[in-house]
Parts: sequence; structure tokens; C-alpha cells
Amino acid sequence: MKHSIIIAPLLAVLICTTSCRSLQPTQSAERDVFAMDTFMTMKAYGDGAAKALDSAEERIHELEAELSVTSQNSDIARINRANGAEVEVSHDTALLVGAGASYWRDTDGALDISVYPVLTEWGFTTGEYHVPDAAAIARLLERVSGEDISVDGSTVQIPADSKIDLGALAKGYTGDEIMAIFRDNGVKSAMISLGGNVQALGSKPDGSDWRVGIKDPFTTDENMCVVSISDKAVVTSGNYERCFTADDGRNYWHIIDPSDGYPADNGLVSVTIIGGEGLRCDALSTALFVMGTEKAQTYLNGHTEVDAVLVTDDARILYTDGLADKLEIMSDMPSEVIARD
Ligand code: ADP
Ligand code: MG
Repeated sequence: MKHSIIIAPLLAVLICTTSCRSLQPTQSAERDVFAMDTFMTMKAYGDGAAKALDSAEERIHELEAELSVTSQNSDIARINRANGAEVEVSHDTALLVGAGASYWRDTDGALDISVYPVLTEWGFTTGEYHVPDAAAIARLLERVSGEDISVDGSTVQIPADSKIDLGALAKGYTGDEIMAIFRDNGVKSAMISLGGNVQALGSKPDGSDWRVGIKDPFTTDENMCVVSISDKAVVTSGNYERCFTADDGRNYWHIIDPSDGYPADNGLVSVTIIGGEGLRCDALSTALFVMGTEKAQTYLNGHTEVDAVLVTDDARILYTDGLADKLEIMSDMPSEVIARD
């Protein structure tokens, strides 16, 4: 009797707290950050969300300070002024320059972080666009030397007249770092967008997949398809970002083909890579854009760990077979599956 008097109210409290908790909406927090020349948005769910976003924002600014090619005190600026000498850099910088060097090998030179002097000559770094003459491009190409970038522990060395920039990789790596911070803070569900880079932690709080729109490169205010993902990054490189129309009436864009120094024009107008690692997706979205329609498909055949949606300049959508039940296409463009062995 004595016991039941104590236990009954206790049980009532217990039942109430459990059921009341399940009725409460999941806590969430949101943050907008402008960094790396990009508008970034983050949304995280769970008790640790607010603290996780504080740490993520701090980390974004830390990475920008290390990696920015334009800020005088960054590791990259120091490497670019070193005149061929060895430079001590942060763990992040060494990792990313090392990644640049290994993706150069892995993509047959399509990704080359030393293409920067060419990019600058076109005005893509300043917004003062112009079409350089062929002789100027040929001269600058001699300084593009992906094979001569060396990383040894925390020491980086590039040739005296070379310059590097991590524009093709930095946001992808930042996405991975933010996911790690979210996980460390107990966040189980989150979605971030760093410019064209979208990355999800887990699935939506209700357990369903996140749905990510991919822009139609021909009508960039519309999505051509939606891909369903959880725990993945979706990274797009397109010819419609940072581009200009020159006096010759032609369009030029900011992804440079290191083999000739001109904006890559090898049959693709947009490349989206979907995979577990943001850095890899970012590197490959740029590299496969440069490779073009044929080489990109060959590369994808040998790399089934990532999926891709390619759009050709004659308006066809090509997507890897791994996306068969994950992709909803709204566009009128004809689509084909890239079947892999
Ligand atoms: P975004 O910056 O629009 O997300 P990308 O990830 O494709 O697009 O990266 C493009 C950036 O990468 C350029 O702005 C430039 O800084 C750099 N870049 C351009 N061409 C190459 C290349 N062939 N290899 C490595 N980096 C490149
Ligand atoms: Mg990229």
C-alpha cells in the first residue's frame, strides 16, 4: 500500500515526460554566414544544434583565413609569394594542397590547382573580365605545373613562378569539417549549403531523405531534377557561375582547361557529383567538367563510389545507374543512364 502510493504518481510523471517529449518538435537552429566569397546557410537539428553552429561558424572563418588566395596572411598567399622556397603551413592547408596534387594525378591533369595565373589573366579572380591573347595564355601555361607541387608533412613547396588556389576544393573540405563538428556535438540531422555545395548529415528529422534540387544550366532559376540523399554531399560545377560574354559574343566561364588555358568546353555545361565526402565531390565536379562528356563517363565507370548527373551542351541529362531510384527529373531534356560494370 505504502509502495503503490509512491509509485503511482512517479509512474504518472514518467509517462507524462516520455509522451510529452515525443510530442515536442525537435530543437533546431539556423545560421547564415558569408565567407569564401559565398553565401552559406546551415540548419541543424537536436539538442546540440546551437552550439554546433557556433563552432561551425568559427571553423569556416578559420579555414577562410588559412586558405584564401586573396588575403595577404593566408597560407596560400605565403606559398604564392615564397619564390620556390619551402613554406610551413597548417594541417588543413597541407591536406588540401596534397589533395590537389593527388587529384592532379588521378584526373590526368584535369584538376590543377596551379592554373591560378591563367584564371587571373582572364579576370575571373577580380571580376575585370577579358579574353587574353593566345600568346599571353601560352606564356602563362608554362607556369601551370600540377606535377611539381610537393607536400611533406606540414611543408609545401611549389615552383618559383607558380601560384596555386584551392577554389575547386575548399568548400568541399569545409562541408566535411562542418559535418564532423555537427557529429561531435551530437547533431544527428543537418543540412548545409555552401554556394553550390549542399551537404546533409543523416536524414531529415522525420527519417525521410533530404531532397536537393539541381539547377537547369540553361534556365538557372529552375531546377531540372531533384535528388534524394542522406549523409551525402551534392556538388555542382556549371558554366553559368562566374561567367561573362565577351565582345566576340561568346560566353567564357571560370573553370579552366589546364591543357589549353581556355574555359573548359568539352561537351558539358554542368556536372553534379553525389557522394559521401564533400572534398571528393568538389574536386570531381570541377575535374569531370574539364574532362568533358567522354572522359567523364570513363572516369565514372572506374569510380562507383560516387554518382553523377551530367548535362551536355546539346541538352541531354546523363546520370549514373546508382541514382535510378533517387532522381526525379522535371526537365524536358532527354535523359540517359550511364551504366557501370
Ligand atoms: P565553384 O567555385 O563555383 O563552386 P568549382 O568547384 O568548380 O566551382 O571551382 C571552380 C574554381 O576552381 C574556380 O573559381 C578556380 O578558382 C578553380 N579552378 C578553375 N579551373 C580549375 C582547374 N582546372 N583545376 C583546379 N582548379 C580550378
Ligand atoms: Mg569543385
